Amino acid sequence: MADLSEFDIIKQYFSFPHYGHQPSENVLLGVGDDAAILSSSKNPLVVATDTLIEGVHFPNNFLPQHIASRALGVNVSDFAAMGVKPTAMTMALSLPASDSQWLADFSRSLAQQCEYYGIALVGGDTTKSPCLSVSLTLLGNTYDEGGSTLRRSAAQDGDDIWVTGSLGKGAAALALLTDTFSREEWPCNQTAKENLIASFYAPQPRLDFGIELLALANAAIDISDGLLADSQHIAEQSQSQLSIIGDSLPLHSGLVSHTDPDKIKQWALSGGDDYELLFTAAPSRAEAIVALSDKHQLPCQKIGAVKSGRGVKLLGRDWSGFEVDGYRHF
Ligand code: ADP
Ligand code: MG
Repeated sequence: MADLSEFDIIKQYFSFPHYGHQPSENVLLGVGDDAAILSSSKNPLVVATDTLIEGVHFPNNFLPQHIASRALGVNVSDFAAMGVKPTAMTMALSLPASDSQWLADFSRSLAQQCEYYGIALVGGDTTKSPCLSVSLTLLGNTYDEGGSTLRRSAAQDGDDIWVTGSLGKGAAALALLTDTFSREEWPCNQTAKENLIASFYAPQPRLDFGIELLALANAAIDISDGLLADSQHIAEQSQSQLSIIGDSLPLHSGLVSHTDPDKIKQWALSGGDDYELLFTAAPSRAEAIVALSDKHQLPCQKIGAVKSGRGVKLLGRDWSGFEVDGYRHF
């Protein structure tokens, strides 16, 4: 198979016809020139970048279509946590080789996801590197000229703490993928296994829910480093204490067949990669939040309260001894 040049790669795989040549509304110039041009808006611009590196964020030999769905999913999750819709993105792609089958699978999956979320790929950079990595930068405007978003710093004393979906699935899926347990330890059935792994391949960011949550919640964060570590971010930036009731945490149903309850707790608290939303809202919003949860068919669980003080407190007899500890690169 002949090696493709950098320019062939861009033209063939990353000039999505849908967007590149018939740019969407706010894209005045897409892939192909020295830079992209987007129309500006009076509403403030929101920007976020997330990088995925082989061997760090996903196991070696992960399929290209899953790398694409995961890369976009985790990036969109950051926008969900701000309550903002992303509309454009750039991609820095580093590849050990120009493998046309890999590129075809990767770009097809990326194009599908971009279309699903309404995001235009407007530019990027393609380089050769011994290590495979994908870095996406997403852009989108706030709803109003005032720049309303959900923020980590906005939790108020007396707020309820909520979490969407279920916890522990990211870490449990990684254990399944890397085979770091025995059958006796975790007699996980086939359906649970498939569900967990599918959620790792293609995280489902809570974007539509997050956008509507903007009107109801005060603070929000997406759970990428683990419930406790991400709660800690809200506590620090809001200068308050997050008091969480261990027994109220919504554990993913696939985990409960694990024979070691401490392992389940550790996955749910510190495992990371769940891409759920953790948010705080005034108790008077509870009814509206339940209605939003019903509308989006996305379970939401109240897990505690914001209090005056500092840090994260985990309450419950069986939950003491779990340190606040998420994944840290350094
Ligand atoms: P330059 O040499 O000026 O840096 P490049 O050759 O890197 O330009 O890129 C050419 C065009 O292709 C630019 O519009 C750039 O934004 C786009 N591009 C490069 N790599 C990617 C990628 N991985 N995804 C999307 N667009 C890309
Ligand atoms: Mg370049």
